[in-house]
Amino acid sequence: MNFDIKRRTILKAGAATLAAGSVGLLLLPTDNEEKLNNVNLINSEAISAVTPSVILEHEVAVKDNLQEVKNFNQTFTKDIFLEKNKYVVFHSTLNKISKVKKVIGFANFNLISFDDMLNYARRYPQIGRFTKNELALIDEIFFYDANKYGFHGDKVIKNLTSKINKKETVKISGSGHYLFQGDALAKFNQLEKDVGPNLVLTSGVRSVVKQLQLFLVKLESSKGNLSLTSRSLAPPGHSYHGIGDFDVGKKGYGMLNFTSEFSNTTEYKKLIELKYVDIRYTKDNNVGVRYEPWHIKVV
Ligand SMILES: [Zn+2]
Repeated sequence: MNFDIKRRTILKAGAATLAAGSVGLLLLPTDNEEKLNNVNLINSEAISAVTPSVILEHEVAVKDNLQEVKNFNQTFTKDIFLEKNKYVVFHSTLNKISKVKKVIGFANFNLISFDDMLNYARRYPQIGRFTKNELALIDEIFFYDANKYGFHGDKVIKNLTSKINKKETVKISGSGHYLFQGDALAKFNQLEKDVGPNLVLTSGVRSVVKQLQLFLVKLESSKGNLSLTSRSLAPPGHSYHGIGDFDVGKKGYGMLNFTSEFSNTTEYKKLIELKYVDIRYTKDNNVGVRYEPWHIKVV
């Protein structure tokens, strides 16, 4: 089967849908979701007399953004959801991607490209080919403008089919993760020396597919809330893990390494004092992502 031709057709169809201004994939916010913490910190009536409305709108947006970043795991009234009629195909897509992960293993899955994923699905009967609708859903999620559901970070990988050259990476023993050679590896090695043996790599290089899988898993647990999901992790194509960043944690700290608890560890306190360390998503970031004290900026 010449999948390339088929996929181009799907991509074109997806682009046409978006160009036509259709919301397509997404539901506009509804008022039947929980109305939690949608706090408007600025009294617009009091300020509007003296402040140009454009500036006011900007200030309100920034304050809202900080509230959302702080309460990232809660639902806000303006959150955008996956359309209900896409849930069946969404679940079958995630299920298929999870099967690919099972077949190739956790570590390999970090680097797998979109084309490789399709090849594995086709070759292994226990996975089965991705259907047209599943591929269309992946396309829509990848190409949708994430700004519309509240994520304001850069799209660092623009091609769904972008590949990671395994030869440019190094597997970090005992972690199941990879780092890019060069700056990322040098930084991690230095961190290990300066922070000590309890510092571990908790996530390194992530392909578009790996980021897609993480995004879909979170999307499932958040009942289709795309905005909430993108407050916890960058949508596929927007993750700096695809081009160099990595996450660190404290040995034996498990999932607490991915909570703000990590910032209370001696490992974090040591690393933040190092002049060469920058955290990608700070407490007051304007990207729309939660505070991630564990995520080391490389690029
Ligand atoms: Zn990270």
